Amino acid sequence: MKKHNFNAGPSILPREVIENTAKAILDYNGSGLSLMEISHRAKDFQPVVDEAVALFKELLNIPDDYSVIFLGGGASLEFCMIPYNFLEKKAAYLNTGTWAKKAMKEAKAFGEVVEVASSADANYTFVPKDYTIPADADYFHITTNNTIFGTELKQDLDSPVPVVADMSSDIFSRPVDVSKYICIYGGAQKNLAPAGVTFVIVKNDALGKVSRYIPTMLNYQTHVDNGSMFNTPPVVPIYAAMLTLRWIKEQGGVKEMERRAIEKADMLYGEIDRNKLFVGTAAVEDRSRMNICFVMKPEYKELEADFLKFAIDRGMVGIKGHRSVGGFRASCYNALPKESVQALIDCMQEFEKLH
Ligand SMILES: *Cc1c(COP(=O)(O)O)cnc(C)c1O
Repeated sequence: MKKHNFNAGPSILPREVIENTAKAILDYNGSGLSLMEISHRAKDFQPVVDEAVALFKELLNIPDDYSVIFLGGGASLEFCMIPYNFLEKKAAYLNTGTWAKKAMKEAKAFGEVVEVASSADANYTFVPKDYTIPADADYFHITTNNTIFGTELKQDLDSPVPVVADMSSDIFSRPVDVSKYICIYGGAQKNLAPAGVTFVIVKNDALGKVSRYIPTMLNYQTHVDNGSMFNTPPVVPIYAAMLTLRWIKEQGGVKEMERRAIEKADMLYGEIDRNKLFVGTAAVEDRSRMNICFVMKPEYKELEADFLKFAIDRGMVGIKGHRSVGGFRASCYNALPKESVQALIDCMQEFEKLH
């Protein structure tokens, strides 16, 4: 049976990326050696990092005075590296979910943290809009897509202070005006690569402004200066990321990814709104295109486990909702074909007929 992969992360990647990574693991560039058993400084690996950086810059139209670096540690390590590198006195955070809250917790160890707004009381079903960013904050931190709660900030905000964004789960799903940020980061395992690599886009002149000592490995400058080669980078995930970036370019770039994301999200939200059994959990205007969360309407609540089984039996993978929301979550990342969304919709319609 065909599987439809709605996993939230790690998640679906283009089939050709997986096949070509597998080939490189068996025999890298006809060298008779595996990608896993060559030096990261080998002359035929350096072009991979260079191409990945160049594609990042090209696809997101990144201005020249920014660097792109690849690190380990996941987005979770960035929660600490961001304040380490940018927080001198005060930082502002928008609390839109579990990941935003974790980012805020780390920052508190480095200075004053102002929570400008929070939707915690509403179980993060919306993205707050009315708030004031303190003009004396060193930066304003946002999470553009709230993977767990299914809300998304789909525009680049205007802010009186530099913006830092966690884009783990919506990077490359829309064009971004990078010049509005000093730093954009994310774990690659949602929309780009297998787990193990973190991407960081950083404005060069935003570095070096804090007075504290920054441990070498946690200092962005170290990795900028060494082109992500200060220590051994995650070679295989970087290779896969490079292939995904090539794939995005071949498909028509981020504008085309956005078009597809809107098309898929409109299809699925359309069915959620039409179907008598289901209801979406996120405020309509903040609905994520990447992680689509829905539950059974209260009067059909007892059917939740039945629908989950019904869908799994028909090849749906990873649609069980996160425990903090319940119900269902269909993650519709770039590599998920429209046909998979249609297959889920068919399931929802068939199940509706039975009840
Ligand atoms: C998954 C996720 C994280 C955590 O990423 P790790 O790489 O596992 O540390 C952080 N932020 C967002 C928005 C995420 O979706």
